[in-house]
Amino acid sequence: MALVVQKYGGSSVADAACIKRVAQRIVATKKAGNDVVVIVSAMGDTTDELLELAEQVSPLPPGRELDMLLTAGERISMALLAMAIANLGSEARSFTGSQAGVITDSTHGKARIIDVTPSRIREALDNGQIAIVAGFQGVSQDTKDITTLGRGGSDTTAVALAAALGADVCEIYTDVDGIFTADPRIVPTARRIPKISYEETLEMAACGAKILHLRCVEYARRFNLPIHVRSSFSTKEGTWVVADPYNEGSEMEQPIISGVAHDRSEAKITVVGVPDKVGEAAAIFKTLADAEINIDMIVQNVSAAATGRTDISFTLPTADSHTALAALKKIQEAVGFESLQYDDQIGKVSLIGAGMRSHPGVTATFFSALANAGVNIEMISTSEIRISVIVAQGDVDAAVAAAHKAFDLDADQVEAVVYGGTGR
Ligand code: ASP
Ligand code: MG
Repeated sequence: MALVVQKYGGSSVADAACIKRVAQRIVATKKAGNDVVVIVSAMGDTTDELLELAEQVSPLPPGRELDMLLTAGERISMALLAMAIANLGSEARSFTGSQAGVITDSTHGKARIIDVTPSRIREALDNGQIAIVAGFQGVSQDTKDITTLGRGGSDTTAVALAAALGADVCEIYTDVDGIFTADPRIVPTARRIPKISYEETLEMAACGAKILHLRCVEYARRFNLPIHVRSSFSTKEGTWVVADPYNEGSEMEQPIISGVAHDRSEAKITVVGVPDKVGEAAAIFKTLADAEINIDMIVQNVSAAATGRTDISFTLPTADSHTALAALKKIQEAVGFESLQYDDQIGKVSLIGAGMRSHPGVTATFFSALANAGVNIEMISTSEIRISVIVAQGDVDAAVAAAHKAFDLDADQVEAVVYGGTGR
């Protein structure tokens, strides 16, 4: 008998009809002879609606109370799903994150899981029951308060529970048939990726591909737990995320490029005329670190001999730019730079593939494709298995399509179907 952990995102449990359909799928998995543990997200856009409601009563709600409120979303779906399963004649028990043994630190809004002690889930399974767990939440070890794991955190709950229970697979159900070589909304001929490595998936998630939560992939890699990303609206095989998809005996040859990701959520700040002296860059980035701002790409130009000054540009989440600009203004005099420039009309396009380690010329092909599409490159950064460029936001779609085509990723016919809405 296998132990299967299934996670259903918001779009898969958006209304009563969806919940009934998901219940059927769960019961079928159970009847096929598996032990089943299910993690659910809040229905549709519930989390956003609860956040709006909180805002209406208080501009700055206390973290403890906000977490208490938001976790209600997942509680609604877990109870309804357990009822729908009972209605099909099978036995299910719903559990909050706390009851399921998801122990976290005490940081409200972005708590980290520090332990998982799923004895009540085991007990339910031993009694032949299907266990339904509310995703995205836990309980703090020291304050005993209810916490949330950050937006999209149900994926992480699923993988953490699957690892703690020693599950054979963690199935993540969403509204597309898996991970695609590009966003099918931009590239209709994007292909489903049958198998992909943890490291490539991590790069994709970090570069704006919205399919899996970054922390959930990190967790799965740590415990070597296979993830199967698939649609709850079809029975098609999805994408397997595993340690080594191209090992000996694999039917697949390693592609040079696995996919093209894009991200429109970053902005660019340029610190103009920084004196070319030891310690200046350190002062600038220390200030940003103290303001808890995560920097992505950094470019420093060679200083102009005539002035002895240089420009430093970096990208950051657009949401953090006001904080960053304010922090930098405060040190303008001390550091002695001339001015700040700000641009939020940018986008990042990234090419990801473990195969680029052993294939020269990937950068040349990528940049020629962008040039032929008339796209100007503003910044570049690379890792061993990724090349990212910053371009004008209006050029993102064209850049993604051009890169996708240049690396022969286009399918002959349209494969991708986006079934659900916007919820996950
Ligand atoms: N409901 C939460 C959110 O919308 C958690 C999740 O969906 O994974 O962020
Ligand atoms: Mg959600």
